[in-house]
Amino acid sequence: RAKDIGRNSFQLFTPAMNAQSLERSLMQNHFRLALKNNELILNYQLQKNILNDEIHGVETLLRWSNPTLGQVSPAQFIPMAEELGLIAEVDNWVLAQACQQRKTWLDNGVNCGRIAVNISPLHFHQGDLIASVKSILSISQLPPELLEIEVTESCFIKQLDNAANILQELKKMGIKIALDDFGTGFSSLSYLTRLPIDIIKIDASFIAKLPNNYREAQITSAIIMLAQNLELEIVAEGVENEAQMSFLLEHGCNIIQGYLYSKPAPEQHISSILMLDTI
Ligand code: C2E
Ligand code: MG
Ligand code: MG
Ligand code: MG
Repeated sequence: RAKDIGRNSFQLFTPAMNAQSLERSLMQNHFRLALKNNELILNYQLQKNILNDEIHGVETLLRWSNPTLGQVSPAQFIPMAEELGLIAEVDNWVLAQACQQRKTWLDNGVNCGRIAVNISPLHFHQGDLIASVKSILSISQLPPELLEIEVTESCFIKQLDNAANILQELKKMGIKIALDDFGTGFSSLSYLTRLPIDIIKIDASFIAKLPNNYREAQITSAIIMLAQNLELEIVAEGVENEAQMSFLLEHGCNIIQGYLYSKPAPEQHISSILMLDTI
């Protein structure tokens, strides 16, 4: 297994490898060194409350830029980090950087709500998540209330009891829990009663079809209503245009995230927006 090979050893290329697996294997070798070579950086995307025009929160999104490969999408390298057994290290690095950044903004008087960090389902069940989060919060001195952890429904397919325990622990610490990509994958509404979820994020694939596609519009308004009735916060992902925003506002979803309002950007760019907002 790749995990056992370790991050400092390199796979050998054999003639039997086809171009695709060769490319994959090259990419894996590059990724093993990405953290050490400072090729990973964080981007941040602002979430807005459209009722009062205020910044609601900010999601942390990881970027990998390699001298040879160029910019690689998280859709490619996150699954790879999972396969290589590196995802916990990567997620913890992101978590530490993000908490530190939010603390810096806090110290500078910037109010940008909670900082959200994505945690891979694999890492989620690895057993050391709680200890890592505790240590990262203590090092960064970030108030736990300012941290939001994003998980997906795939965290709950197996070991639901274990997942519930982990979420309870995080909640006890004061951290907020968001259910990312809601409505895709293996949604089961019973998760919402059995797990301490605070926020539902409607998946971008529904938002993309608003407002004219009947089914997506119905599903979106049903999810919003469900969230309201359960007193959960609701965030729409991937909001790209005014028509989508109007639909969401009309149906009671006030928190939006997407290119319409803010593209994911490096710290310097986001900091300058936040500082302007503070004045
Ligand atoms: P996600 O957590 O659902 O993040 C939202 C994705 O939607 C991001 O893609 C973001 O750039 C993109 N997005 C935001 N607004 C819009 C919009 O208006 N239109 C469109 N078309 N897209 C929009 P990104 O950055 O490529 O990340 C993809 C996924 O990779 C994330 O989905 C998340 O599941 C994962 N990921 C990213 N960073 C991390 C990380 O640090 N750790 C882990 N475990 N996963 C991460
Ligand atoms: Mg997310
Ligand atoms: Mg996601
Ligand atoms: Mg999502």
